[in-house]
Parts: sequence; structure tokens; C-alpha cells
Amino acid sequence: MSKLKYESPIIKQINAGITSKFGEMSTLKPTTHIANIPVKSLIEEYGSPLFVINEQTIRNTYQDAYHAFSTRYPNVQFAWSYKTNYIDAVCKVFHTEGAWAEVVSGFEYNKAIKNGVPGDKIIFNGPDKSDEDLTMAVQNNSPIHIDHFDELYSLIAIAEKLNKRAKVAIRVNMDTDIKPLWDRFGFNYENGQAWEAIKKIISSKNLDLIGLHTHIGTFILEPNAYYIAATKLADLAINVKNKFKHDIQYIDMGGGFASKNTLKGSYLSGTDLAPSFSDYAENITQALLNAGFSSEDLPLLILETGRALIDDAGSLLGTVLANKRLADGRRSMVMDFGVNILFTSFWYNHIISPAQECSLYTEETVMYGPLCMNIDVIRESINLPPLNKGDHVVVHRVGAYNMTQWMQFITLRPKVVMIDTNGKAHIIRESESNEYVSKLDITPEYLQEIDL
Ligand SMILES: *Cc1c(COP(=O)(O)O)cnc(C)c1O
Repeated sequence: MSKLKYESPIIKQINAGITSKFGEMSTLKPTTHIANIPVKSLIEEYGSPLFVINEQTIRNTYQDAYHAFSTRYPNVQFAWSYKTNYIDAVCKVFHTEGAWAEVVSGFEYNKAIKNGVPGDKIIFNGPDKSDEDLTMAVQNNSPIHIDHFDELYSLIAIAEKLNKRAKVAIRVNMDTDIKPLWDRFGFNYENGQAWEAIKKIISSKNLDLIGLHTHIGTFILEPNAYYIAATKLADLAINVKNKFKHDIQYIDMGGGFASKNTLKGSYLSGTDLAPSFSDYAENITQALLNAGFSSEDLPLLILETGRALIDDAGSLLGTVLANKRLADGRRSMVMDFGVNILFTSFWYNHIISPAQECSLYTEETVMYGPLCMNIDVIRESINLPPLNKGDHVVVHRVGAYNMTQWMQFITLRPKVVMIDTNGKAHIIRESESNEYVSKLDITPEYLQEIDL
């Protein structure tokens, strides 16, 4: 029998308020495998830290979401929100499931083209579209979602010059009882600005109004907000039909569904709090079905769901660099991943599990990242069993926004691996190297030589 590992004894202050009524036991169960591959062997082969994407989870989640809508409404289309995770292989998984692309910049637009998405299936959103971007989108027949009047005027001029009719929608913002109001994007419904934009588009011979769009916010925990939003867009569509004899082809409800992560400061965990796809679908489709469209005029329903489709599929594997006692006696740990690659730790309390068998005894711990920066805190307080230098952990539900908002700061960004539906791992993004990062630096001739 091998000798048991020494674990130092702990005197623990009971910290009421840290667990909800459902307790925190799930954190204690080790996660030793991701999609049947041992965490240890993934780290041995690809290094630590390491992002791992489970392709099967993406497909299952997508199909659940699609099912929730398509069983309630005849005509549904998802468009993958590139900014949520634009690693090419991830986008391609969504495209093979049938999702179009939803992009918010020229950079993302070009990525979608390179991924083989036909132009008319790339929805072009966002407040920043250059004349060059707009020209490209008009030429490719992409649906352009106009954000403001200045863009509308540029687009009229560009389409006229190209002698083409641009396919457009407007982004509409509105009061959905969600505070604060997201009124910085698009045209406001309540003050009549959206209707002004519609009139200008209808009267322009170079613009073809094909849709109406909204994106009411993100991590919306109140499905009824979507009922209100869909009712308001449907009202605009029906007014367009009545006043201008013009059919709106689609209503695009944007993204914003909550994932199962737990927001900081939330008493209940995300798994108990997040509405299901069915809850959202019921609200949106009921609003459209109640709006007064005749059944043959029901517009296509587009959804641009981001985080709720990908968060669960991503895990971050990491390693303990050190254990430390803070001056006030609290235990702290230094990990090899920080806020540089786990941006969402600013607003989520991620579930973090040990990746090997561990003691049932836990101690409140501050979890730090490796950066030499005070802001680099992964969790201000997490109950964890004793972990030694070199032990591994798994951070759950990190698929959304981390692999796009991560920053190259102080250290290099790690590899991303995807485990396919047959259980085989593929590198889908290489780790950075010093050479890669320095490639864009230019040292002027007179600074080439230093002499110390
Ligand atoms: C970011 C964004 C989305 C995706 O939002 P989620 O909250 O991740 O679902 C969809 N549409 C637009 C216009 C966006 O900006």
C-alpha cells in the first residue's frame, strides 16, 4: 500500500452565506475526464493552461435550442454570433448544424466569408461598418442591420454608386422592463425614431427593407422581456405592411439568453436560475403568433444566440503553481491561468473542480492568476480541498467570450483543443510564441544595437 499523502489540518470558520440552500457539493466532485479523455493526459500532451471544447456538447445544445423554437414556430433560423467564440473550427461546427453567421465588424465579416458562409447568410450588425465594409456587404447581398442614421445615409450613397439595392434591416432598441435600457444601439421604438428610419428606407430606391432586428441585452434572466420585444417588432412589421404594402421577411430577436453560469453576487446558482430555451421560445413565439400576422405572412424568426449555445461546451484546464497564506490567515492559491485568458471571471463565479481525487475537507480559498497585477483574481472566495503544487483543476462553462476577449498580456495565450464526436482531440488553435507576438513590432534602425 502506498503511503497516504500528507494533508495539513484545518481549523475552519463557518462562513454562512457562501453556499445557497442547495449547498456547494458539486464543486467538490473531481472532474478527472473531459469527454472521456483524462485531464492529466490532455495537459501532458497539450500543456497547461488549456482550453478544451467538447463538440458533442455544442451540437446537443444547439439541437436543444433549435428544437425549442422549431416545435413552436414554423420558420426558424439561427445565426452564430461570431464575437462569442470565433475560433474557425467552432464556427464551422455551428455552420454544419445549419447556423448562419452574425458578425459585428469587418474583421468578423471577413472571417465568415473565409469560413465559406455565403454572403446572403451573413448578418452584418454593429455600429462600426466602414464604407469599404458596406460596399463588400452590398456586393455580397448580405443583410445589413443599420445602427444609426449616419450609416443609413452612407449606405444609400454606396448602394447608388454600385447601382444595387442593399438588403437591410434596422436594429431597434426599446423598453422591455430590463434596466438599464440598452438604447445606444439602433433606433428607439418608443420615441418614433425607428419609424422615421423605416420611412426613410422605404422611400429610398436603393434600400430593400427585409427585416427588423433587436438585441435587448445579454444574460437576460427574464424571458418575458422577449415577449415585450417581439410584440414591439411585430407591431412595426404590421404597420409597415398596412401603411406601405411591404412585407417584412424576418424578425431577428438577437441573442442574450443566459447561460448556466452563476453571476457574482447571485444567491442562487446559474443552473437553478437560468431560464430554459423553452421558456425563451415560448415567450418569443407566442408574441409573434399573437401579433396578428396571417399564417402565410408569418415572418422568418432569426435568433443570434451566443453564450447560451457555447458556454457549457468549453472548459479551462489549469495547474496549481503555489499555495500561500495571506497575512490575515486566509489560504490562497496561485494558478497558471488568470484574468488574461479567463475574462469572464470578472462577472461569473465559475465552478472550479479539482481534476484528481481529493479530500472531502475544504477551506475557503482566494484563487489568483499568474499575472503580476493586483486585479488578477479568479475567485475572491471558493471552497476547495487542499491541492498541491502541480495538481490540476477544471474551470467549467468557459466557452463564451473568453476565447475572443482574452488578451495577450504579460504571457502567451494557450492552445485550444476540440474533442470531436468520436472522442478524438484536435488542436483548433495553436498557443502563441514569442516570435508570433513580436512579429508586429518594428524596431527603428537606430535602436537595433544596445550596449549595456
Ligand atoms: C453579442 C451579440 C449577440 C450574442 O449575444 P449573447 O448574449 O452572447 O447571446 C447577438 N447579437 C448581437 C447584435 C450581439 O451584439
